[in-house]
Amino acid sequence: MKELIMHEQNCIFCKIISGQIPSKIIYQTNHSIILQDIAPQAPIHYLIIPKTHVQDLVSCTDTTLLADLMSIPAILAKQIGEDTAFKLFTNNGYAAGQRVFHLHFHFLSGKTFSE
Ligand code: AMP
Ligand code: ZN
Repeated sequence: MKELIMHEQNCIFCKIISGQIPSKIIYQTNHSIILQDIAPQAPIHYLIIPKTHVQDLVSCTDTTLLADLMSIPAILAKQIGEDTAFKLFTNNGYAAGQRVFHLHFHFLSGKTFSE
């Protein structure tokens, strides 16, 4: 029953987290999972995702979870290499480009981004 409370039945990221859909897992903590994006926009494109279902950033009131999520980019950057530059963002809401309504941060690296 715990799974049903923590996971939304029709959410693709919840299905990945519960193992129903395969994915390339890069790293995980107790609270978060980091996946390779299926349609990468850069040579490195990871998604930093909470293991519990939260719709978007403004819905997330769990500061422990937010701290966990925000501790991950530095770990990923160190794993990739010293002084690795990266871009980190979230799309909050449909008009901002959000298409999967389970909070996630995009971590992009491995190229020079235009301004
Ligand atoms: P957003 O538009 O901010 O909601 O981002 C959703 C991201 O999820 C997009 O970059 C998609 O390419 C990615 N995505 C969708 N389905 C999958 C999947 N099954 N595995 C990995 N990434 C996915
Ligand atoms: Zn979900």
